[in-house]
Order: sequence, then C-alpha cells, then structure tokens
Amino acid sequence: MFNFKKKYGQNFLTDKNLLNAIVSDAGIEKDDFVIEIGAGAGALTEVISSRAKKVVAFEIDSELEGTLNSLNLKNVTFRFEDFMKVDLKEFKESFKVVANLPYYITTPIIFKLLEETDKLISLTVMVQKEVAERMVADTSGDYGVLSVMLAFYGQAKITRIVKRNMFYPEPNVDSAVVTLKIEKKYYVDKLTFYRFVKTAFSMRRKTLLNNLSTIYSKDLLKQTFSEDFLKRRAETLTIDEFVEAYKKILGQTPTSLNADTKN
Ligand code: SAM
Repeated sequence: MFNFKKKYGQNFLTDKNLLNAIVSDAGIEKDDFVIEIGAGAGALTEVISSRAKKVVAFEIDSELEGTLNSLNLKNVTFRFEDFMKVDLKEFKESFKVVANLPYYITTPIIFKLLEETDKLISLTVMVQKEVAERMVADTSGDYGVLSVMLAFYGQAKITRIVKRNMFYPEPNVDSAVVTLKIEKKYYVDKLTFYRFVKTAFSMRRKTLLNNLSTIYSKDLLKQTFSEDFLKRRAETLTIDEFVEAYKKILGQTPTSLNADTKN
C-alpha cells in the first residue's frame, strides 16, 4: 500500500475525463515533446503519452519507480529527480509543459521554467485556485509579481476549476488549470526586468518612488519619471507600463546598475 507523502504535495488524479480535458487544454499534438513535473502514479503521464511524440516525466519520490515503470510507456522517460535541481539547458528541443504541480513549490517551478530556458512553448498546470487567480489577475484583481511576470511572457488563462474531491487524498482547497502560451512580446532582458518588477512590488503599500529608490537614486528616478508616476503603486501599473518604465530607466543607467541584484 502506497503512503501518500504530504511533504511532496501528493494529491493524485484518477478521473479519465478530467485527465483528458487537461491534455486537451494544453493543445498537445502528435509531434510534441512534453515535460511533466510530478508524475505521481502516472495517470496524467499515460494520457500525455497517448497524445504526444515524446515525454520526459520527473518524479521526486523514488518509491513510485516500480508503479511508473510497470506502466510500460514506450515514449516516456521517467526521471526520479528533484525537478528544481535539473538544469533545463539540457533540453535543446522545444517543449510543452503539462503538470498537476506539487502545491508546496508551484511558483518556484513556474519561475524556473520561465527563466531558465527559451525552449518552453506553453505551460498547462494545475495549481491551487487562489494561485491561479493571482496568475491571471490584472490590475483590478490579485495583481502581483507573479501576474506581471506571466503577462510578460504571454496571456495566462484559467481553463477549468477543479473541485478538491477530484483528488486523492483530498486537499483543503479547490484547484484550477492555467494555460500560458509563450509569446515573447517584449524584447527586454527577462531577468533584469524580473528584478525591476520585484523591487517595484517589494513593499506593497509604498509608492514606486519609495520602492525603486532601493536600487536607483531618487534623483535619477525624478529625472526619469513624472511626479505623478512616482506617486503610483506597483499594483496599478499594467504590463505595458511596467515594460515602458523599465526601458526608460534602462536608458538612463549604467549597465552595472541594471544588473543590480539587490531585491
Ligand atoms: N501527476 C500526478 C497526478 O496528477 O495524479 C501527481 C500529481 S501530485 C499533485 C504532484 C507530484 O509531484 C507528486 O507525485 C510528488 O511526489 C511530485 N513532486 C513533488 N516535488 C517534486 C519535485 N521537486 N520534483 C519532481 N517531482 C516532485
């Protein structure tokens, strides 16, 4: 009998209709290379495998090795590793991600996928509903660093809400499936832009002037932006305004400051 490990966020799915629907939301086609994070007992892996060309599925829990290998899925490579320790640069081919993510590291996994590789085509992930809402929020909702960064990469959408009773063991909250197709709309360096956004949001209730002055001098900020702009809070800035502001300050500062790691 398998002991579910809470520390690994093990809440498995079994409903075939739901599993099929997730893979359809991901738009998986027969020539696709898919990476799955957290294979669990392989229920989602089986459906992905039947629709894609090739799958690499990561699973941290080596106790699941026997179960997963006995599925005998010819186009799937199971890797019993911590996904957070994998260097995504090893994947030279473009890939789509489909995953029912472990809840305790949802955001780090998403950021890793967005930052570490240029090969990601799209992301389709099951996450807690509250996280999903933050992922797709605009300035009128639960808008924050996560929403801005996803908007930077594409347009995140909730494709379905999944009730907690669809999982075993049943978690305390409902979930949702979010898709993001990578669009590369903005041609600015993603890592330094991320640092800029994080700094702008560092103290939520403070103005842009206060937050940004932790990495840029007040004089420089006043010289670059209008007084009205600097009085605003990060949560009121749309993605386009963020990119525009970032480009403005980039044009004003020496390279060493742009790469400032303070946050
Ligand atoms: N895909 C299965 C399903 O839908 O039924 C399982 C999903 S379950 C929510 C998340 C899975 O991720 C668990 O099997 C857990 O052991 C695995 N996991 C947790 N942390 C991981 C990590 N750092 N790297 C790889 N897998 C991880």
